[in-house]
Amino acid sequence: MNHAPLSVHALSKRYAGVSVVEDLSFTLEKGDCFGLLGPNGAGKTTVMKLCLGLTAPDAGEITLAGYRIPEAAQAAHASVGVVPQFDNLDPDFTVSENLRVFGRYFGLSRQAMTARMDSLLQFSNLETKRDTRINALSGGMKRRLTLARALVNDPDILFLDEPTTGLDPQARHLIWERLKTLRSNGKTLLLTTHFMDEAERLCDRIMIVDGGRKIAEGSPRELIARHIEAQVIEIYDATGTSEALEAFVCAARAQSGMEGARMEKSGETLFFYVHDAAARQLLALLTQRPTLRYAHRAANLEDVFIRLTGRELRD
Ligand code: ADP
Repeated sequence: MNHAPLSVHALSKRYAGVSVVEDLSFTLEKGDCFGLLGPNGAGKTTVMKLCLGLTAPDAGEITLAGYRIPEAAQAAHASVGVVPQFDNLDPDFTVSENLRVFGRYFGLSRQAMTARMDSLLQFSNLETKRDTRINALSGGMKRRLTLARALVNDPDILFLDEPTTGLDPQARHLIWERLKTLRSNGKTLLLTTHFMDEAERLCDRIMIVDGGRKIAEGSPRELIARHIEAQVIEIYDATGTSEALEAFVCAARAQSGMEGARMEKSGETLFFYVHDAAARQLLALLTQRPTLRYAHRAANLEDVFIRLTGRELRD
C-alpha cells in the first residue's frame, strides 16, 4: 500500500445553506491515530460521514484506502471498519451471530468466519459470551463487540466515533488497550472523543474543530506547549463566597508579582494559569487560608480545548 489510508483536501459541507464543515484538510499515514475533537455540533460526525461516503461534500477531495470518495465508497469499505457512536448490534442475535452476520456482509465464507471467530472473541474478551444475546451484555461488552465487529474484515483503517462514551473506567481502559494494540499492529485510527485524557493518551495527532473550521492541529504535547501555560492551580473555597475568594486570590497574585497571570472563573472555581515555578509563591500564600481547597497540576489537553473553544455550554 503506497497511498495514505485517508487524505482529505479542502473539504466543505453545507446543510440547508449553513456551513457545517469548512475547508478542512488532513492526511492520515499508516499507523497514525488521529483525533478529531470539538464541542457538540462542531462537525466531527459529519466529517466521518463524508470520509465514509455516507453523505456527499459540497467541495473538496477525499481519498480513502486509495479510492475516491464518495464515488468509490463501496470498494473502499472493504478496507475500513467503523465503530459508530451508538451501538447498533442486532438484539435478536447472539454475540457470535452478530459477528457472522457482519462477516457475510463483507462476503466472508462460513469457514473464513469460523477461522476468524476465536481471535475476534479473544480480542474483545468475550470468549465466554459467544452464545449470549445482546440484551444480556453490559455496556462495556457491547462496545467491545462493536469493536470486534468493526474488525471482521481485517480493515486497514478504523473510524471510531466516541468509542468509550458511557463506559466505566475499567471498560474504558480495556478499550484503550485494545486500540493501542491495533495501532501497534499497523492499523490506522480516526477517533472522535469528548474525553481529552483519552485523546491525549491515544492520539499522536489532533485536530480541534469548531463551527466546522479547524482551530488547532498538532500532537497533544505541541498543542499544550503552544496554546497554554505549563501549570494550572484550581482554587475553591468551601466556606466563603466566590467574590471573596476572587478578591483574596487577586491580592495573592499581586503579592507574588504575577498580576499578568491568566485567571478564569468557572462556577465557584478559579483557574489560575502560570508558566513556571512562580506558582510556588502563590501556593505558599494560598496555604495561609485553611478553608481553601486547591489542586496544582500540569496543564493538559482539556485546558487547551477550553481555552480555544470557550467555557459556554454547547447543547
Ligand atoms: P458533532 O459530531 O461535532 O457534534 P455534527 O457533525 O453531528 O457535529 O453536526 C454539525 C452540524 O451539522 C450541527 O449543527 C448539526 O445540527 C448539523 N447537521 C448534522 N447533520 C445534519 C443533517 N443531516 N441535516 C441538517 N443538519 C445537520
